[in-house]
Amino acid sequence: MPIADRMVRRVAEFAVVKDMFEEGRRLKERHGADNVYDFSLGNPDLPPPAELRAALRELAQSETLSFGYAPVAGHPPLREALARRLSAEHSVPARPEMIVMTVGAAGALNAVFRALVNPGEEILTPAPYFLGYGSYAFLVDATLKTAPTDRRFHLDPDAVNRALTRQTRVVLINSPNNPTGAIYSAAEIDALGRVLEKASARFGRRIYLVCDEPYRTITFGTLVPPVMKAYPHTIVVNSFSKELSLAGERIGYFAVHPEAEDAGAIVAAGSTANSMHVVNAPGLLQQAVARVLGAAVDVSVYRRRRDMLCEILAAAGYEFNRPEGAFYLFPQSPIPDDVRFTEILKAERILVSPGRAFGTPGYFRISFAVPDQTIRDSRSGFLRAAEQARRGGDAR
Ligand code: PLP
Repeated sequence: MPIADRMVRRVAEFAVVKDMFEEGRRLKERHGADNVYDFSLGNPDLPPPAELRAALRELAQSETLSFGYAPVAGHPPLREALARRLSAEHSVPARPEMIVMTVGAAGALNAVFRALVNPGEEILTPAPYFLGYGSYAFLVDATLKTAPTDRRFHLDPDAVNRALTRQTRVVLINSPNNPTGAIYSAAEIDALGRVLEKASARFGRRIYLVCDEPYRTITFGTLVPPVMKAYPHTIVVNSFSKELSLAGERIGYFAVHPEAEDAGAIVAAGSTANSMHVVNAPGLLQQAVARVLGAAVDVSVYRRRRDMLCEILAAAGYEFNRPEGAFYLFPQSPIPDDVRFTEILKAERILVSPGRAFGTPGYFRISFAVPDQTIRDSRSGFLRAAEQARRGGDAR
């Protein structure tokens, strides 16, 4: 084998995702892009806010624009602005020196896991979970373990408690959640903090909470509670991929609670891993984002699309929870085999992702980062697919 043995399975797993993209491309070629309803990607389609374009124009004219290597932990004015913002979001005095700019939230998670997790240790996450997590755990030779969520896909602190072991180094949560759109409540987060405090004492070693929140500002009326306040041994991960529709420009960060056990060592290790083992955040974007922090895409568009899709799915008889944030819906597959149901939808030229890609078979994910017209035109296909599943006799 010309490639490392451990990569063989990973390449095969990724091929499934690549095949899905390819299949979407082929369908669009055959039927025309307007006749294929592609809900499979979490790629934000809204334009970035006007402020960002203006900042980029200004920077292009500015004498102070630098294309040199950025400081290891990131552009100081941006980290200072982020510390002010995090202090408000998480109700703790966040500090700029505890923040490291990264290549998206993905880069931040990779740096944080390298800083914290030894080979063979466990990262525990509630399921359903973002499909990148398995790969990030793989890169640090850790095991990704899951704990179930409740019927609304909300956090179940008791289930997390039961899944913790002496090997658990990190509990990883994502709220607003990809793929379910659930926003974990303050009561759930507080209870999780108590569980982790007790378990750390019981096992005689600190369990850290990593809170991945790239959808924090994409909410539809539900508050995203502070997490650092609930548990000091927290590292927040975030990015501008969704908030500013900047997913291709790869800019994010991690922030360590100033009172986390060994906070300074974690920042140093995470920053070293980021700079030497991942790659630094892009400099131009750090300078641009520092000028527009607080601007955001028009979330009312995502809310409108959520409402349109919920109406279509309800009319067709699908079971689902109304998303509280992010831009995903996670309905139950009308037949137990979610992969087969995605095939039924594909015959209607509707592309979605099977729930098992998110550790939860029996469901499927719809991304509503798509134009309104795509949603409108998909109505009859969703209806026919549900009817076909019912007629097939193996409906739930
Ligand atoms: N975490 C979650 C839950 C995501 O949905 C994504 C991307 O979709 C990421 C992390 C990676 O984000 P980024 O593009 O900022 O690297």
